[in-house]
Amino acid sequence: MSILITNIGELVGADAERWVIEDAALVIDGDRIGWAGPVAAAPAADEVVDAGGRAVLPGFVDSHAHLVFAGERAEEFAARMSGRPYAAGGIRTTVAKTRAASDDELRAGVRRLVAEMVRQGTTTIECKSGYGLTVADEERAVRIAAELVDEVTYLGAHVVPNGTDAADYVRLVAGEMLEACAPYARWIDVFCERGAFDADQTREILAAGRAAGLIPRLHANQLGHGPGVRLAVEYDAASADHCTFLSDEDVAALADSETVATLLPGVEFSTRQPYPDARRLIDAGAKVALATDCNPGSCYTSSMAFCVALAVREMRMTPEEAVRAATEGGARALRRTDVGHLRPGARADVLLLDAPSHIHLAYRPGVPQVARVWRSGLPA
Ligand SMILES: [Zn+2]
Repeated sequence: MSILITNIGELVGADAERWVIEDAALVIDGDRIGWAGPVAAAPAADEVVDAGGRAVLPGFVDSHAHLVFAGERAEEFAARMSGRPYAAGGIRTTVAKTRAASDDELRAGVRRLVAEMVRQGTTTIECKSGYGLTVADEERAVRIAAELVDEVTYLGAHVVPNGTDAADYVRLVAGEMLEACAPYARWIDVFCERGAFDADQTREILAAGRAAGLIPRLHANQLGHGPGVRLAVEYDAASADHCTFLSDEDVAALADSETVATLLPGVEFSTRQPYPDARRLIDAGAKVALATDCNPGSCYTSSMAFCVALAVREMRMTPEEAVRAATEGGARALRRTDVGHLRPGARADVLLLDAPSHIHLAYRPGVPQVARVWRSGLPA
């Protein structure tokens, strides 16, 4: 089954030399991109879709989300907006509700959010555990995530559960819990932050994760300066996520590494915190991705388009930089070469915008602009 999308006003990410091609066409061949080029040279296909001059982009790659949870925290958000600062402890509220939920309730919650993301043009989804914090509850979270998303991250080290000694908990996360979760996960993550896990604890957990075959990624430098970013680089993490409070040394370390700086501006929006400085990272030569951090506490958006708009408005990124960070940047942060672009051979994750160019994602914030989505070549 092949689909020719023709009369594309602006085709994004389909050519290694030119990020944007005008007056283009694209062929989906099964679950892959089969061909991309000028309309006049387009081959025949089983089905033809007329884009009518609109833009076609790679589906968004959301490389950071926490989707396995029960309940929500709207009241906490309302309180925070009326002046109470965000503290990591709010996670524990969601932990209690998540432990009390059935497998089917958790599965339904993930399904609902995945569907919500796909409707908004996201076609690759990463999801972390971290609201279980017992061996059985973390194993359950990664097992359910593995059924429903593309990339699964074991985040037993989200926060130390109430009434537990921190050293004992780190041993559990790096031992029995890791052993139970590793079969379902590709990644290991630690919330390396004051009030969560310190440098030594982070090292112990990342080292154990690596020994179990998982690849590190890290929650780093969200709430203040700290060792997270430099640990991410030291452990060759695929990504250091948040990067809100960075020293010059942190920026230089990222720029000299393959570790992607994943920026999550929905969090700063939803917690009324200063935004990370994407311009400083890009100008220094660091690789940057954008993701939602969709979670019930610090940021309950699933919209990559909203993050693109924030990145342009608040983080000094150009629309092109922001859209690239939300597609190929996210793919790099997940060490994936088959998504985040539309070059022949890529997974056929295609977003037809109801707009003539990618700029409209930032130019028209909050406006639904997704006309059609194909995921692995199938209409989503
Ligand atoms: Zn997160």
